[in-house]
Amino acid sequence: EHLFLASVILIGAVMATTLVLSKVVHQRRARYETSISRAVGALAQGDRAASLSEDGKQLGQSGFVSRFNRQLFRLDADLRRIRGERDSFASVFEDLDAGLIVLDAEQKIVLTNSATHSLLQLNREVLGSPLVDALRVSATEDILEAARAGKGCQVEFEMPGNVDCTVQALCSQHPASGRTIILLLDVSRERMLERVRRDFVTNVSHELRTPVTVIRTNAETLLSGALSDPDASQRFVEGIYRHGERLSALIADLLDLSRIEAGRRELERSPIELRNTLISAIEGLAPLAEKRTTSLSWSCPEELHAEADPLALDQILRNLTENAIKYSGRGGAVELIAQAQGNRVLIEVRDNGPGIPPQHHARIFERFYRVDRGRSREAGGTGLGLSIVRRLCESMGGACSYRLNQPNGSVFSVELPGLRKKSSNS
Ligand code: ADP
Repeated sequence: EHLFLASVILIGAVMATTLVLSKVVHQRRARYETSISRAVGALAQGDRAASLSEDGKQLGQSGFVSRFNRQLFRLDADLRRIRGERDSFASVFEDLDAGLIVLDAEQKIVLTNSATHSLLQLNREVLGSPLVDALRVSATEDILEAARAGKGCQVEFEMPGNVDCTVQALCSQHPASGRTIILLLDVSRERMLERVRRDFVTNVSHELRTPVTVIRTNAETLLSGALSDPDASQRFVEGIYRHGERLSALIADLLDLSRIEAGRRELERSPIELRNTLISAIEGLAPLAEKRTTSLSWSCPEELHAEADPLALDQILRNLTENAIKYSGRGGAVELIAQAQGNRVLIEVRDNGPGIPPQHHARIFERFYRVDRGRSREAGGTGLGLSIVRRLCESMGGACSYRLNQPNGSVFSVELPGLRKKSSNS
């Protein structure tokens, strides 16, 4: 009977243990299976933390679990590397100064970067659109034609409504995918410089032509007999002298300008006391002012200093004051006024002449720009004075500008780095 009881207890214990064990195994399997489906799901979403539960090892799957986890680890590393490469490619692509457009085989836009949007002034999404939606210029047809022919091409166009913006498009084909890659470069500055250089050569030749022609024809006339006529020879030699002077003034200004622009004229900035500088500029031009019955005056606080190159500042003041005397007509009044403006100084040269009509204001500091060609020549001007003033100001960290005087005349302003002001009587 005891034996029977012991057997029943033993069988019961074995059954209970088996039950518990099978429950444990069942739970473990369930966890393992969940971990598999979770790992696969996470993997599909690119989750790096995905791995198989260790339960698999107890279920006799240890080889599979470690292979799977190792594979997961490798996949994760590959994914991370690819993502990194993609991100760095995207950032290079985005940071490019040049615009980039990629067209698919159907010639629809599949990729653009932000430079494309700013260069073409696009304020809407163009992905999936035909190229003409982004590039409304006739050159688009050339690009598409080259793309259809499977060829590369290079075209240049001005942005509609902005002739100062020139864009160069370099297109190439990717034969395998049928894609077209278009690189857009802003070449406005290069084209503008080429234009300036071309205009400059034309202007210089034009400026040289008159004096050289006068000198040559006067000399010819003298040689062919006028020498024997004292009155005529006097006139012709005077002509040669006057135009010779013009030539040397022109060459001196041109050399000056090219030295400043090439940075070869070293401007050394030092503290310059302005009151004496104004006075000496006025004294230097007193004979011319007297001849033209023009009054010259100045106003400047004591101890006002500018950070400037003394010779350059003197040249600026003389150029502006000489212009004011020359163009303001007889009996004019020219004033030189200097004052502090924060940590800068403002020097103005004012006259009560005819002033400059507003349509010329934007261009008067350009080389060879003259409001009245005849008057400038008559006054012995080279058309370079104001461009020299502007370059000198800029080279000293300053700026110059123009406005009309009230009730009439001109005000040329020069702004330079200042030093300090102490008192303000003039
Ligand atoms: P220019 O050698 O002809 O004087 P500038 O560069 O000094 O050349 O001046 C450019 C043009 O600006 C002049 O030809 C003239 O028409 C105009 N201009 C300059 N200063 C004055 C002024 N104070 N009043 C009126 N016109 C001026």
